[in-house]
Amino acid sequence: MKTVLFSLTDAELQKFITDLGEPKFRASQIRDWLNRGAPDFNSMKNIPVMLREKLDAVAQTMPVKIVKKLVSGDGDTTKFLLELNDKEQIECVLMRTTYGNSVCVSSQAGCAMGCKFCASTLLGLKRNLTVDEIFSEILVAQWELRGCESGKQIHANGDPNNNDVSHIVVMGTGEPLQNTENVIGFLERANHDLNISWRRMTVSTCGIVPGIYDLIKWGRPINLAISLHAPVDELRSTVMPINNKYKIAEVLKAADEFTKLHNRQLMIEYILLGKNGKNGETELYNCTPEYAEMLAKLLTGKNCMVNLIPWNAVDERDFASPSGNAVHRFQDILIKNGIHCRIRRERGTDIGSACGQLRLNNKKD
Ligand code: SF4
Repeated sequence: MKTVLFSLTDAELQKFITDLGEPKFRASQIRDWLNRGAPDFNSMKNIPVMLREKLDAVAQTMPVKIVKKLVSGDGDTTKFLLELNDKEQIECVLMRTTYGNSVCVSSQAGCAMGCKFCASTLLGLKRNLTVDEIFSEILVAQWELRGCESGKQIHANGDPNNNDVSHIVVMGTGEPLQNTENVIGFLERANHDLNISWRRMTVSTCGIVPGIYDLIKWGRPINLAISLHAPVDELRSTVMPINNKYKIAEVLKAADEFTKLHNRQLMIEYILLGKNGKNGETELYNCTPEYAEMLAKLLTGKNCMVNLIPWNAVDERDFASPSGNAVHRFQDILIKNGIHCRIRRERGTDIGSACGQLRLNNKKD
């Protein structure tokens, strides 16, 4: 197997380079390229071609390589399918927004949580990602933003200076709090190496209560998002098996402790699901007006923001997207009850941006 240069310490990289009979200073030149996310040695323009070829025969730059890159029609969303060294695949998504460049990263290859609406869990959990692997997802996005290879800026919102990753969301494939140690290691590194502030980082969990307490113990003032998707246990257990282990009240209690400690607003993720009815019409599943009232009651008095996410179709899943009217009616009820909420703009639906969809489709190809 080839040596992954990104994962070497500075001293190890220097030894690796001098063992190839090259001068020491090449190591710091290569490190500079690695830190910028160079996907291959050919991108390293100040390295002699002969050395690039020598390196290519025995090493690779990062522990991930891009298998597919899809750009949405509006150019704001880029989705990457990445391959790890053991051939497992993961996804990450770069979103260019008015507030900055946000990257949604995966924390595991696959997922064991079994949420009934999700594509990421269909092939089960393969393994946890390492700190280097998660961090590489950010560097892939950074390289894309800076247009390093071509030397031109390719930022879609027209601001040529806005070419750094500014926000991180750990909300891609996998349950981050099943891989807490590496997720924390990754966030520490993103803060230290890329100067991304804690307040621009969000970890999203399906409700692993001990993991939330681990984040409390860690003590960094990041944002916490809870994937709730139902206001009552009976309904939630039908779409999220984890609810059989950690009930809504227990999850929200831990989340409250986290947000109060850091004076942060809790993010609540709520996917709006419909079902195909017998006469071909879509029936509402977790987004009836009654459930909206129950959700409002559950969240009253909490410092939270509800993100309403109309379901993004996954062929293998037996759900349907509710109508725009139903989505707005659900939101109106929350607002009438004083709950902060917004409908999350559907990004990159033309490139299969539902969590795990690209990875799944590629396995099927
Ligand atoms: S929604 Fe998240 S926690 Fe649930 S199966 Fe999908 S990736 Fe796992």
